[in-house]
Amino acid sequence: MATLTTPALTLEQETNPWEAQASRFDFAAKKLNLDQGIWKLLRYPTREIIVHIPVQMDDGSIEVFTGYRVQHSIARGPAKGGIRYAPDVSLDEVRALASWMTWKCAVVNIPFGGAKGGVICDPKKMSQGELERMTRRYTASIIDFIGPEKDVPAPDMNTNEQTMAWIMDTYSMHMGQTSTAVVTGKPVNMGGSRGRREATGRGISVVCDEALKHLGMSIEGCRVILQGFGNVGSNAANILYRKGYTIIGITEYDGAVYNADGIDIPALIEHRARAGTINGFAKAVPADKDEILTRECEILIPAATENVITSRNAADLRCRILCEGANGPTTVLADEILAEKGVFVIPDILANAGGVTTSYFEWVQDRMGYFWTESEVNQRLDTIMSESFKDVVSYGTAHQVNNRIAAYMLAIDRVAFTTKQRGVYA
Ligand code: GLU
Repeated sequence: MATLTTPALTLEQETNPWEAQASRFDFAAKKLNLDQGIWKLLRYPTREIIVHIPVQMDDGSIEVFTGYRVQHSIARGPAKGGIRYAPDVSLDEVRALASWMTWKCAVVNIPFGGAKGGVICDPKKMSQGELERMTRRYTASIIDFIGPEKDVPAPDMNTNEQTMAWIMDTYSMHMGQTSTAVVTGKPVNMGGSRGRREATGRGISVVCDEALKHLGMSIEGCRVILQGFGNVGSNAANILYRKGYTIIGITEYDGAVYNADGIDIPALIEHRARAGTINGFAKAVPADKDEILTRECEILIPAATENVITSRNAADLRCRILCEGANGPTTVLADEILAEKGVFVIPDILANAGGVTTSYFEWVQDRMGYFWTESEVNQRLDTIMSESFKDVVSYGTAHQVNNRIAAYMLAIDRVAFTTKQRGVYA
C-alpha cells in the first residue's frame, strides 16, 4: 500500500486543515499523473470572498464580524457547501473545507462543485435576533456570488434549518421572488427535503454496513464509539442503534458516557434534550472524553470537528474501522500510523457525503417543485452511498492505495476530466 511520506511537522502544521488537504491532493495528483496545469488549477480555490459584517447587537452597540465564502471549483456544477459559525473559523480552514466539498461531490458523483462559508462569531453567546441580523447581513454581503445556479449554501457547524430559512428569505427579498433552491437544509415546509436532517447520519450508517460486509464482520456484536452528538453524531448513533449496532460510548465537548452493554440512544437523546448535556445520563457511566476514543471497539466515528485523531493518539486507537463523520478529523501523520496498524478508514469525503447527497435531492426537488416521500429520498441516498463505497474500495484495490487516497484520486480524476473538457476560457 502506498502511504504519504511526510517530513517532521509541528503540531500546528500537522493540524492545519489546508495543509492536510493540499498534501493529500498532491499525493493523489502525482499518482494520477495529473497534467501540471490542471494540478495548479485544482489545487487552489477559484474565488475567496472576505466580508466584514456590521451587526446591531441587542444592547444597541455595533459589532463587526468577519465572514468568508470560498468557492473551490465550479467545474462540475454550481459551488456547494455549508456555512459554519465558530469563534475560531479561519480562511485556511474554510479553504480546506471548500476543496473537500469539491472532492466529496465528485466521489458521490453529483453535479456540484465545492464551496464553504464561515463567520467568526460565538453563536452560543448570541441571541436569536443577533444571529438573524448577522445571517441576513452576511447573505446580503455575498449575494452577488450565491444563487441556485451559482453557489448553494447549506448548514454546517452551529448553523441549522432556521439559518437557512433566513438566508433563503434574504436572497428572495433581494430577487423579488421566492427562490427556494438557493440553499439546502431548509425546513421541509419551505422547500426542504424530507430526510435531509438525518441524511449525513444515515449515510454514515450505510458505509458502516458496507464496511462490515467488505471485512466479513457482522452487525451483531459490533461495538461503536462516537465522538460528537450534534446533528451528525446523534442521527448516526440513532440510526446505527436501530440497525442493531451496539453503541458503547458517546463523547462530547463537555464529557463522555460509556456502557459496555450498549447505550439506549433514544433515551440518551431524550436526556440531552432535557438536561442540555449528555452528562448525568443514568443508564451509562461517565468517562474521560479523550481517553474513551482509545477504548476497544469495532467502529470509531469522529463526528464533530477537525484534528481529533493526530500523531498523539493514533497509535493508541483500538478500533478496526475508523468512519469519518466529521470533515478532516484525521491528520496526515495519523493516517500513516493508522495504515501501519491496519485500521480500515472510511474517509470523510465518502463517509459524510450523505448530507450533500440529500442536499442535491433537495435542490432537484426545489427546481421541479415536486417533492418526494421520505422513503424515496432514503432509498436514493442508500443506493448512492453504497455504490460510492464500492467504487472507492475497488479503485483502491486496483491502484494499490488506501481508501483515502483512492477517494481523492477518483474525485480528482472526475473533476480534472470535466475541467479539461470545458477548457480554459480566455
Ligand atoms: N455541511 C455539510 C458537509 O460538510 C453539508 C453540505 C451541503 O449539504 O451542501 O458536507
